[in-house]
Amino acid sequence: MPRQTQIGLMSPPELVSEHETQTANYATLETEKLTLDLTRGKPSPEQLDLSAELLTLPGPGDFKDGTGTDCRNYGGLHGLPELRAIFGELLGIPVENLIAGNNASLELMHDVISYALLYGTPDSERRWVAEPTLKFLCPSPGYDRHFAITEALGFEMIPIPIGHDGPDVHAIAELVAGDPQIKGLWAVPNYSNPTGVIFSEEVVQELVSMPAAAPDFRLFWDNAYAVHPLTDTAAPVLDVLGMAAAAGNPNRPIVFASTSKITFAGAGVSFLGASTPNLNWYLEHAAKKSIGPDKINQLRHLRFFKDADGVRAHMQKHRAILEPKFALVLRILEDRLGASKVASWTEPKGGYFISLDVLEGTAARVIALAKDAGIALTAAGSAFPYRNDPEDKNIRIAPSFPQLPELEKAMDGLATCVLLAATEKLLD
Ligand code: PLP
Repeated sequence: MPRQTQIGLMSPPELVSEHETQTANYATLETEKLTLDLTRGKPSPEQLDLSAELLTLPGPGDFKDGTGTDCRNYGGLHGLPELRAIFGELLGIPVENLIAGNNASLELMHDVISYALLYGTPDSERRWVAEPTLKFLCPSPGYDRHFAITEALGFEMIPIPIGHDGPDVHAIAELVAGDPQIKGLWAVPNYSNPTGVIFSEEVVQELVSMPAAAPDFRLFWDNAYAVHPLTDTAAPVLDVLGMAAAAGNPNRPIVFASTSKITFAGAGVSFLGASTPNLNWYLEHAAKKSIGPDKINQLRHLRFFKDADGVRAHMQKHRAILEPKFALVLRILEDRLGASKVASWTEPKGGYFISLDVLEGTAARVIALAKDAGIALTAAGSAFPYRNDPEDKNIRIAPSFPQLPELEKAMDGLATCVLLAATEKLLD
Protein backbone atom coordinates (compact mmCIF):
# COMPACT_ATOMS: atom_id res chain seq x y z
CA MET A 1 0.00 0.00 0.00
CA PRO A 2 1.66 3.33 -0.99
CA ARG A 3 2.01 5.70 1.93
CA GLN A 4 0.06 8.98 1.90
CA THR A 5 2.02 10.98 4.47
CA GLN A 6 5.37 12.68 4.49
CA ILE A 7 7.41 10.99 7.20
CA GLY A 8 9.06 14.27 8.19
CA LEU A 9 5.65 15.82 8.94
CA MET A 10 4.37 12.99 11.13
CA SER A 11 3.41 13.59 14.75
CA PRO A 12 5.49 11.59 17.28
CA PRO A 13 2.77 8.90 17.71
CA GLU A 14 2.42 8.59 13.91
CA LEU A 15 6.16 8.23 13.60
CA VAL A 16 6.26 5.51 16.27
CA SER A 17 3.52 3.64 14.45
CA GLU A 18 5.32 4.06 11.12
CA HIS A 19 8.49 2.73 12.71
CA GLU A 20 6.59 -0.32 13.98
CA THR A 21 5.16 -0.94 10.51
CA GLN A 22 8.58 -0.76 8.88
CA THR A 23 10.15 -2.93 11.58
CA ALA A 24 7.51 -5.55 10.85
CA ASN A 25 8.08 -5.20 7.08
CA TYR A 26 11.79 -5.65 7.66
CA ALA A 27 11.24 -8.75 9.80
CA THR A 28 9.20 -10.25 6.96
CA LEU A 29 11.96 -9.32 4.50
CA GLU A 30 14.52 -11.14 6.64
CA THR A 31 12.46 -14.31 6.58
CA GLU A 32 12.70 -14.35 2.76
CA LYS A 33 16.44 -15.17 2.99
CA LEU A 34 17.23 -13.25 -0.19
CA THR A 35 20.57 -13.24 -1.99
CA LEU A 36 20.30 -10.32 -4.39
CA ASP A 37 22.97 -8.05 -5.78
CA LEU A 38 22.62 -4.44 -6.94
CA THR A 39 26.29 -3.58 -6.58
CA ARG A 40 28.09 -3.40 -9.90
CA GLY A 41 27.01 -2.04 -13.24
CA LYS A 42 27.57 -5.30 -15.04
CA PRO A 43 25.74 -6.23 -18.25
CA SER A 44 23.31 -9.12 -17.73
CA PRO A 45 23.84 -12.47 -19.46
CA GLU A 46 21.12 -11.57 -22.05
CA GLN A 47 23.03 -8.41 -22.87
CA LEU A 48 26.25 -10.40 -23.29
CA ASP A 49 24.33 -12.83 -25.50
CA LEU A 50 23.61 -9.95 -27.93
CA SER A 51 27.28 -10.19 -28.91
CA ALA A 52 27.46 -13.99 -28.96
CA GLU A 53 28.55 -13.93 -32.61
CA LEU A 54 31.85 -12.40 -31.49
CA LEU A 55 32.79 -15.83 -30.15
CA THR A 56 32.82 -17.16 -33.71
CA LEU A 57 34.56 -14.18 -35.33
CA PRO A 58 36.74 -13.41 -37.21
CA GLY A 59 36.54 -17.10 -38.16
CA PRO A 60 39.03 -19.43 -39.82
CA GLY A 61 41.09 -17.78 -42.52
CA ASP A 62 40.04 -14.22 -41.65
CA PHE A 63 42.97 -12.45 -40.06
CA LYS A 64 43.75 -9.46 -42.30
CA ASP A 65 42.16 -6.05 -41.97
CA GLY A 66 41.38 -3.72 -44.90
CA THR A 67 44.94 -2.39 -44.99
CA GLY A 68 46.35 -5.91 -45.29
CA THR A 69 47.70 -6.05 -41.74
CA ASP A 70 48.03 -9.62 -40.49
CA CYS A 71 46.26 -9.20 -37.16
CA ARG A 72 47.88 -12.34 -35.77
CA ASN A 73 51.28 -10.71 -35.74
CA TYR A 74 53.03 -8.12 -33.59
CA GLY A 75 52.72 -4.40 -34.20
CA GLY A 76 50.04 -1.84 -34.94
CA LEU A 77 50.19 0.07 -31.67
CA HIS A 78 47.49 2.48 -32.94
CA GLY A 79 44.97 -0.33 -33.43
CA LEU A 80 43.03 -1.16 -36.58
CA PRO A 81 42.19 1.95 -38.67
CA GLU A 82 38.76 0.67 -39.75
CA LEU A 83 37.63 0.05 -36.18
CA ARG A 84 39.04 3.42 -35.11
CA ALA A 85 37.06 5.03 -37.94
CA ILE A 86 33.81 3.51 -36.63
CA PHE A 87 34.37 4.70 -33.08
CA GLY A 88 35.85 7.97 -34.31
CA GLU A 89 32.51 8.67 -35.96
CA LEU A 90 30.61 7.78 -32.77
CA LEU A 91 32.92 9.77 -30.50
CA GLY A 92 33.36 12.73 -32.87
CA ILE A 93 37.14 12.22 -33.07
CA PRO A 94 39.22 12.15 -36.30
CA VAL A 95 40.65 8.68 -36.86
CA GLU A 96 44.24 9.96 -36.64
CA ASN A 97 43.51 11.22 -33.13
CA LEU A 98 41.98 8.00 -31.86
CA ILE A 99 43.74 4.77 -31.01
CA ALA A 100 42.25 1.39 -30.13
CA GLY A 101 43.67 -0.73 -27.31
CA ASN A 102 42.93 -3.79 -25.24
CA ASN A 103 39.86 -4.54 -23.20
CA ALA A 104 39.89 -1.94 -20.41
CA SER A 105 39.74 1.83 -20.72
CA LEU A 106 40.57 1.98 -17.00
CA GLU A 107 43.96 0.57 -17.90
CA LEU A 108 44.49 3.45 -20.35
CA MET A 109 43.53 5.98 -17.68
CA HIS A 110 45.89 4.35 -15.20
CA ASP A 111 48.64 4.32 -17.84
CA VAL A 112 48.20 8.00 -18.76
CA ILE A 113 48.45 9.05 -15.12
CA SER A 114 51.39 6.69 -14.52
CA TYR A 115 53.25 8.06 -17.56
CA ALA A 116 52.59 11.63 -16.41
CA LEU A 117 53.95 10.73 -12.98
CA LEU A 118 57.04 9.02 -14.36
CA TYR A 119 57.86 11.17 -17.39
CA GLY A 120 55.70 14.33 -17.24
CA THR A 121 53.30 15.27 -20.03
CA PRO A 122 54.29 17.28 -23.14
CA ASP A 123 53.31 20.43 -21.20
CA SER A 124 54.85 19.56 -17.83
CA GLU A 125 57.68 21.52 -16.27
CA ARG A 126 58.72 18.40 -14.40
CA ARG A 127 57.62 14.80 -13.87
CA TRP A 128 54.49 14.73 -11.76
CA VAL A 129 56.25 12.65 -9.09
CA ALA A 130 58.69 15.52 -8.64
CA GLU A 131 55.87 17.90 -7.67
CA PRO A 132 55.64 18.74 -3.97
CA THR A 133 51.98 17.65 -3.90
CA LEU A 134 49.49 16.42 -6.48
CA LYS A 135 45.78 17.12 -6.54
CA PHE A 136 42.88 15.86 -8.62
CA LEU A 137 39.34 17.21 -8.91
CA CYS A 138 36.63 14.63 -8.38
CA PRO A 139 33.05 15.51 -9.29
CA SER A 140 30.98 13.61 -6.71
CA PRO A 141 29.08 11.41 -6.56
CA GLY A 142 31.29 9.85 -9.22
CA TYR A 143 32.86 6.58 -10.34
CA ASP A 144 34.57 4.71 -7.50
CA ARG A 145 37.24 3.18 -9.74
CA HIS A 146 38.35 6.62 -10.95
CA PHE A 147 38.84 7.68 -7.37
CA ALA A 148 40.63 4.41 -6.61
CA ILE A 149 43.23 5.19 -9.32
CA THR A 150 43.99 8.69 -8.09
CA GLU A 151 44.01 7.55 -4.46
CA ALA A 152 46.40 4.69 -5.20
CA LEU A 153 48.72 6.93 -7.21
CA GLY A 154 49.03 9.48 -4.41
CA PHE A 155 46.81 12.40 -5.43
CA GLU A 156 44.93 14.48 -2.92
CA MET A 157 41.36 14.23 -4.15
CA ILE A 158 39.11 17.27 -3.99
CA PRO A 159 35.37 16.61 -4.25
CA ILE A 160 33.42 18.91 -6.60
CA PRO A 161 29.62 19.16 -6.48
CA ILE A 162 27.83 17.90 -9.57
CA GLY A 163 24.61 19.55 -10.74
CA HIS A 164 22.02 18.73 -13.40
CA ASP A 165 24.24 19.91 -16.29
CA GLY A 166 27.68 18.82 -15.09
CA PRO A 167 30.21 19.60 -12.37
CA ASP A 168 30.27 23.01 -10.70
CA VAL A 169 32.43 24.92 -13.19
CA HIS A 170 32.65 28.01 -10.99
CA ALA A 171 34.19 26.02 -8.15
CA ILE A 172 36.50 24.27 -10.63
CA ALA A 173 37.58 27.52 -12.34
CA GLU A 174 38.49 29.10 -9.01
CA LEU A 175 40.51 26.10 -7.84
CA VAL A 176 42.26 25.45 -11.14
CA ALA A 177 43.22 29.09 -11.68
CA GLY A 178 44.90 29.35 -8.31
CA ASP A 179 46.60 26.02 -7.73
CA PRO A 180 49.29 24.59 -10.04
CA GLN A 181 49.24 21.33 -8.08
CA ILE A 182 45.81 20.49 -9.52
CA LYS A 183 46.71 18.23 -12.43
CA GLY A 184 43.44 16.71 -13.47
CA LEU A 185 39.69 16.38 -13.35
CA TRP A 186 37.65 13.20 -13.69
CA ALA A 187 34.75 13.69 -16.09
CA VAL A 188 32.05 11.36 -17.40
CA PRO A 189 30.33 13.71 -19.85
CA ASN A 190 27.45 11.50 -21.03
CA TYR A 191 25.14 9.71 -18.58
CA SER A 192 27.60 10.06 -15.71
CA ASN A 193 28.20 7.24 -13.28
CA PRO A 194 26.17 7.29 -11.02
CA THR A 195 24.07 10.45 -11.51
CA GLY A 196 23.20 10.04 -15.21
CA VAL A 197 24.14 13.72 -15.67
CA ILE A 198 24.82 14.89 -19.23
CA PHE A 199 27.33 17.74 -19.37
CA SER A 200 25.88 20.78 -21.17
CA GLU A 201 27.79 22.46 -23.98
CA GLU A 202 28.28 25.53 -21.73
CA VAL A 203 29.89 23.38 -19.03
CA VAL A 204 32.19 21.71 -21.56
CA GLN A 205 33.09 25.10 -23.05
CA GLU A 206 34.03 26.38 -19.59
CA LEU A 207 36.11 23.30 -18.80
CA VAL A 208 38.16 23.49 -21.99
CA SER A 209 38.72 27.24 -21.84
CA MET A 210 39.14 28.16 -18.15
CA PRO A 211 42.61 29.46 -17.27
CA ALA A 212 44.65 26.87 -15.34
CA ALA A 213 47.67 27.55 -13.14
CA ALA A 214 49.12 24.16 -14.15
CA PRO A 215 50.18 24.16 -17.83
CA ASP A 216 49.67 20.39 -17.79
CA PHE A 217 46.17 20.38 -16.31
CA ARG A 218 44.21 17.51 -17.95
CA LEU A 219 40.54 16.61 -18.33
CA PHE A 220 40.20 12.84 -18.02
CA TRP A 221 37.21 12.66 -20.33
CA ASP A 222 35.76 9.20 -19.77
CA ASN A 223 33.02 8.81 -22.34
CA ALA A 224 32.19 5.28 -21.19
CA TYR A 225 28.47 5.83 -21.95
CA ALA A 226 28.72 7.84 -25.19
CA VAL A 227 26.30 5.62 -27.10
CA HIS A 228 24.13 4.35 -24.25
CA PRO A 229 20.81 6.23 -24.41
CA LEU A 230 17.66 4.85 -22.78
CA THR A 231 15.37 7.24 -24.71
CA ASP A 232 14.79 8.12 -28.37
CA THR A 233 16.89 11.25 -28.15
CA ALA A 234 20.53 10.38 -27.57
CA ALA A 235 22.65 12.97 -25.75
CA PRO A 236 25.05 14.58 -28.22
CA VAL A 237 28.70 13.58 -28.07
CA LEU A 238 30.45 16.94 -27.95
CA ASP A 239 33.71 17.46 -29.81
CA VAL A 240 35.73 18.16 -26.69
CA LEU A 241 39.07 17.92 -28.53
CA GLY A 242 37.95 20.44 -31.17
CA MET A 243 36.46 22.75 -28.55
CA ALA A 244 39.67 22.62 -26.50
CA ALA A 245 41.80 23.31 -29.57
CA ALA A 246 39.60 26.29 -30.50
CA ALA A 247 39.97 27.58 -26.92
CA GLY A 248 43.76 27.40 -27.16
CA ASN A 249 44.10 24.33 -24.90
CA PRO A 250 44.40 21.47 -27.40
CA ASN A 251 46.23 19.16 -25.00
CA ARG A 252 43.82 19.56 -22.09
CA PRO A 253 41.33 16.72 -22.76
CA ILE A 254 42.19 13.05 -23.07
CA VAL A 255 39.18 11.04 -24.16
CA PHE A 256 38.58 7.44 -23.08
CA ALA A 257 35.92 4.97 -24.16
CA SER A 258 35.41 1.25 -24.58
CA THR A 259 33.01 -1.40 -25.77
CA SER A 260 32.78 -2.88 -22.26
CA LYS A 261 29.08 -1.93 -22.05
CA ILE A 262 28.54 -2.59 -25.76
CA THR A 263 29.93 -6.08 -26.37
CA PHE A 264 31.70 -8.05 -23.63
CA ALA A 265 32.56 -6.20 -20.41
CA GLY A 266 35.64 -8.35 -19.97
CA ALA A 267 36.70 -8.75 -23.60
CA GLY A 268 35.90 -5.55 -25.46
CA VAL A 269 38.08 -2.88 -27.06
CA SER A 270 39.18 0.38 -25.42
CA PHE A 271 39.86 3.73 -27.09
CA LEU A 272 41.99 6.77 -26.33
CA GLY A 273 41.47 10.06 -28.18
CA ALA A 274 43.75 13.06 -27.87
CA SER A 275 45.63 15.86 -29.63
CA THR A 276 48.56 14.77 -31.80
CA PRO A 277 51.22 15.80 -29.22
CA ASN A 278 49.35 13.94 -26.46
CA LEU A 279 48.86 10.88 -28.63
CA ASN A 280 52.52 10.77 -29.69
CA TRP A 281 53.54 11.16 -26.06
CA TYR A 282 51.23 8.33 -25.02
CA LEU A 283 52.40 6.03 -27.82
CA GLU A 284 56.07 6.70 -27.09
CA HIS A 285 55.63 5.38 -23.57
CA ALA A 286 53.09 2.68 -24.44
CA ALA A 287 55.59 1.29 -26.97
CA LYS A 288 57.86 0.34 -24.08
CA LYS A 289 55.08 -1.62 -22.49
CA SER A 290 53.66 -3.51 -25.46
CA ILE A 291 54.44 -4.22 -29.12
CA GLY A 292 50.79 -3.83 -29.95
CA PRO A 293 47.24 -4.54 -28.75
CA ASP A 294 45.09 -7.61 -29.38
CA LYS A 295 44.26 -6.92 -33.01
CA ILE A 296 42.32 -10.16 -33.49
CA ASN A 297 39.82 -8.91 -30.91
CA GLN A 298 39.68 -5.60 -32.75
CA LEU A 299 39.13 -7.44 -36.06
CA ARG A 300 36.27 -9.47 -34.61
CA HIS A 301 34.65 -6.26 -33.37
CA LEU A 302 35.08 -4.74 -36.82
CA ARG A 303 33.47 -7.73 -38.51
CA PHE A 304 30.66 -7.75 -35.96
CA PHE A 305 29.68 -4.07 -36.22
CA LYS A 306 30.69 -3.32 -39.84
CA ASP A 307 30.00 0.41 -39.35
CA ALA A 308 28.84 3.04 -36.86
CA ASP A 309 25.19 2.29 -37.62
CA GLY A 310 25.91 -1.29 -36.65
CA VAL A 311 26.93 -0.03 -33.19
CA ARG A 312 23.87 2.22 -32.94
CA ALA A 313 21.53 -0.64 -33.88
CA HIS A 314 23.25 -2.91 -31.37
CA MET A 315 22.76 -0.32 -28.62
CA GLN A 316 19.02 -0.30 -29.32
CA LYS A 317 19.00 -4.00 -28.41
CA HIS A 318 20.68 -3.19 -25.10
CA ARG A 319 18.16 -0.45 -24.54
CA ALA A 320 15.28 -2.89 -25.05
CA ILE A 321 16.68 -5.03 -22.21
CA LEU A 322 17.68 -2.19 -19.91
CA GLU A 323 14.71 0.16 -20.25
CA PRO A 324 12.19 -2.10 -18.43
CA LYS A 325 14.68 -2.55 -15.58
CA PHE A 326 15.17 1.18 -15.14
CA ALA A 327 11.41 1.72 -15.40
CA LEU A 328 10.80 -0.92 -12.71
CA VAL A 329 13.30 0.65 -10.31
CA LEU A 330 11.80 4.10 -10.82
CA ARG A 331 8.26 2.80 -10.37
CA ILE A 332 9.11 1.07 -7.07
CA LEU A 333 10.97 4.11 -5.78
CA GLU A 334 7.97 6.29 -6.58
CA ASP A 335 5.39 3.84 -5.19
CA ARG A 336 7.24 3.05 -2.00
CA LEU A 337 9.12 6.28 -1.27
CA GLY A 338 7.49 9.05 -3.31
CA ALA A 339 5.02 10.39 -0.77
CA SER A 340 7.31 9.86 2.23
CA LYS A 341 9.73 12.54 1.00
CA VAL A 342 12.65 10.84 2.75
CA ALA A 343 14.44 10.12 -0.52
CA SER A 344 15.10 11.54 -3.96
CA TRP A 345 16.59 9.89 -7.01
CA THR A 346 17.79 10.53 -10.54
CA GLU A 347 15.80 9.56 -13.62
CA PRO A 348 18.61 8.91 -16.08
CA LYS A 349 18.16 9.17 -19.84
CA GLY A 350 20.97 6.71 -20.42
CA GLY A 351 23.91 4.90 -18.88
CA TYR A 352 23.89 2.27 -16.18
CA PHE A 353 22.90 3.76 -12.85
CA ILE A 354 20.28 5.41 -10.70
CA SER A 355 21.60 7.54 -7.87
CA LEU A 356 19.43 7.42 -4.76
CA ASP A 357 19.70 10.00 -1.98
CA VAL A 358 18.13 8.84 1.28
CA LEU A 359 17.54 10.83 4.48
CA GLU A 360 20.79 12.49 5.47
CA GLY A 361 22.81 10.38 7.90
CA THR A 362 21.12 7.09 6.99
CA ALA A 363 22.81 5.70 3.85
CA ALA A 364 25.30 3.53 5.76
CA ARG A 365 22.48 2.21 7.96
CA VAL A 366 20.27 1.47 4.91
CA ILE A 367 23.12 -0.42 3.25
CA ALA A 368 23.79 -2.41 6.44
CA LEU A 369 20.09 -3.26 6.88
CA ALA A 370 19.90 -4.35 3.23
CA LYS A 371 23.01 -6.48 3.60
CA ASP A 372 21.56 -8.28 6.63
CA ALA A 373 18.44 -8.96 4.58
CA GLY A 374 20.52 -10.44 1.74
CA ILE A 375 20.52 -7.44 -0.62
CA ALA A 376 24.03 -6.38 -1.59
CA LEU A 377 24.54 -2.69 -2.38
CA THR A 378 27.75 -0.81 -3.17
CA ALA A 379 29.50 0.10 0.12
CA ALA A 380 28.41 3.36 1.74
CA GLY A 381 30.32 6.35 0.43
CA SER A 382 31.74 4.48 -2.60
CA ALA A 383 30.84 7.24 -5.02
CA PHE A 384 32.96 9.78 -3.12
CA PRO A 385 36.71 10.32 -2.80
CA TYR A 386 38.11 8.32 0.15
CA ARG A 387 34.67 6.64 0.36
CA ASN A 388 33.55 9.59 2.42
CA ASP A 389 30.01 10.70 1.69
CA PRO A 390 29.93 13.82 3.88
CA GLU A 391 26.14 13.69 4.22
CA ASP A 392 25.91 9.89 4.41
CA LYS A 393 22.98 9.86 2.02
CA ASN A 394 24.02 8.50 -1.39
CA ILE A 395 23.34 4.98 -2.66
CA ARG A 396 24.18 3.86 -6.19
CA ILE A 397 21.67 1.47 -7.76
CA ALA A 398 22.85 -0.69 -10.65
CA PRO A 399 19.75 -2.25 -12.26
CA SER A 400 21.40 -3.96 -15.27
CA PHE A 401 22.44 -7.37 -13.96
CA PRO A 402 19.48 -8.88 -12.05
CA GLN A 403 16.46 -10.35 -13.81
CA LEU A 404 13.23 -8.35 -13.44
CA PRO A 405 11.67 -10.48 -10.65
CA GLU A 406 14.90 -10.34 -8.60
CA LEU A 407 15.23 -6.64 -9.24
CA GLU A 408 11.68 -6.08 -8.03
CA LYS A 409 12.35 -7.99 -4.80
CA ALA A 410 15.64 -6.20 -4.22
CA MET A 411 14.15 -2.75 -4.79
CA ASP A 412 11.13 -3.44 -2.64
CA GLY A 413 13.42 -4.66 0.12
CA LEU A 414 15.65 -1.63 -0.30
CA ALA A 415 12.64 0.70 0.02
CA THR A 416 11.73 -0.98 3.32
CA CYS A 417 15.30 -0.43 4.57
CA VAL A 418 15.17 3.25 3.52
CA LEU A 419 11.91 3.78 5.44
CA LEU A 420 13.05 1.86 8.50
CA ALA A 421 16.34 3.77 8.69
CA ALA A 422 14.49 7.08 8.25
CA THR A 423 12.03 6.38 11.06
CA GLU A 424 14.88 5.22 13.33
CA LYS A 425 16.77 8.43 12.62
CA LEU A 426 13.78 10.70 13.18
CA LEU A 427 12.91 8.98 16.45
CA ASP A 428 16.50 9.19 17.65
N1 PLP B 1 34.30 4.38 -16.88
C1 PLP B 1 33.10 4.45 -16.30
C2 PLP B 1 32.47 5.77 -16.05
C3 PLP B 1 32.45 3.27 -15.92
O1 PLP B 1 31.25 3.35 -15.32
C4 PLP B 1 33.06 2.03 -16.16
C5 PLP B 1 32.43 0.78 -15.75
O2 PLP B 1 31.49 0.74 -15.01
C6 PLP B 1 34.32 2.01 -16.78
C7 PLP B 1 34.91 3.22 -17.12
C8 PLP B 1 35.06 0.75 -17.03
O3 PLP B 1 35.52 0.75 -18.32
P1 PLP B 1 36.45 -0.40 -18.89
O4 PLP B 1 35.72 -1.67 -18.76
O5 PLP B 1 36.66 0.03 -20.31
O6 PLP B 1 37.73 -0.38 -18.11
